[in-house]
Amino acid sequence: MSSPSLSLFLRSSLEELKQNGLYNEIDALQGGNGPMIQIKNRPLINLSSNNYLGLAGDERLIAAAERALRQYGVGAGAVRTINGTMDVHEELEEKLARFKQTEAAIAYQSGFNCNMAAISAVMDAGDAILSDELNHASIIDGCRLSRAKVIRYKHSDMENLERQAKAAKESGQYAKIMVITDGVFSMDGDIAKLPAIVDIAERYDLITYVDDAHGSGVLGKGAGTVKHFGLSDRVDFQIGTLSKAIGVVGGYVAGRRELIEWLKARSRPFLFSTAAPPAIAAACVAALDILTGSAELQERLWHNAAYFRQGLERIGFRTGPTETPIIPCIIGEEKLTQQFSRELREEGVYAKAIVFPTVPKGLGRIRNMPTAAHTTAMLDEALGIYENVKKRMGLKE
Ligand SMILES: *Cc1c(COP(=O)(O)O)cnc(C)c1O
Repeated sequence: MSSPSLSLFLRSSLEELKQNGLYNEIDALQGGNGPMIQIKNRPLINLSSNNYLGLAGDERLIAAAERALRQYGVGAGAVRTINGTMDVHEELEEKLARFKQTEAAIAYQSGFNCNMAAISAVMDAGDAILSDELNHASIIDGCRLSRAKVIRYKHSDMENLERQAKAAKESGQYAKIMVITDGVFSMDGDIAKLPAIVDIAERYDLITYVDDAHGSGVLGKGAGTVKHFGLSDRVDFQIGTLSKAIGVVGGYVAGRRELIEWLKARSRPFLFSTAAPPAIAAACVAALDILTGSAELQERLWHNAAYFRQGLERIGFRTGPTETPIIPCIIGEEKLTQQFSRELREEGVYAKAIVFPTVPKGLGRIRNMPTAAHTTAMLDEALGIYENVKKRMGLKE
């Protein structure tokens, strides 16, 4: 029997979620997360994955993982600092450093725990962190864990950032000050103003931390947002994930040798959580080899993204300030947006609705992520379905 206070808490909290339309039903996929997915025996055009380059189902990654499974077994058997570090983990870190054009890199089990690890290894009570108000949840949690004072600045508002950076610096209250931003913001697909952020950072001695989960493999010929702006030697922490464009799972920090050395000595998930399975590391190595060997997948991704965005605009939808393959289709009112997503699904397109409080009220949208693996025929079919649903629901514009 569970505790009465727990039961009461769970029942009333779940009820509240459901009443506010915030309860998420999870649909299991019957197979891989490719350009087409199957749910409840029904094939659907998939516009909701982060599998930007289609690498999650790539034969070359599968073969590399299979070979490593045979060679090393399934689990790593220990944390990295005891004896869970295998040569394939080190190979991955060397390749990541080369990919990001930094001196060194450290790999973690996920992007989420990378932010838990890296921020608190360097920042502490007595420090301050300037954080974009739209930063990812794992950054928010990582900041909280560090016990540093968190100062939020308005989204991509450089005047606001500079004013708060100046005030923090001049207060003399903080031993160290860091500025943290997503490289690409996942709800609108806009890119952080890194050149301005780096200038401000240099003016006020801020540590720079860029979480490029949605930019790595996508921007800067694959190397990410920092490379896109030519700032590789002016950013202290380049965070990335191996779970999105790379198609596998994991996270990493790329930076100066001394920083990586410190993270290997002090970051808690590296010290206290078992190393990623070696087959996962091997698949990531294969993905990086593909990315550094050819730009073909990126080119196809950007081509498909432009094609899909232009298609939506031709039908009369607004797509907002996106600069990347994240393509919102703004519907507006919350219930209408959710209905739109359900109707798309009925017709054969899987694309999730994103509404308040994740985005501002009245700006509900369907978030589309076309990938390199979609064919033009799939995108055309999806656009046709968008057009039909728009007509049927009587939406204007
Ligand atoms: C997705 C994401 C993460 C989490 O990465 P995982 O590898 O999925 O744990 C962290 N930061 C940002 C900005 C993200 O978009």
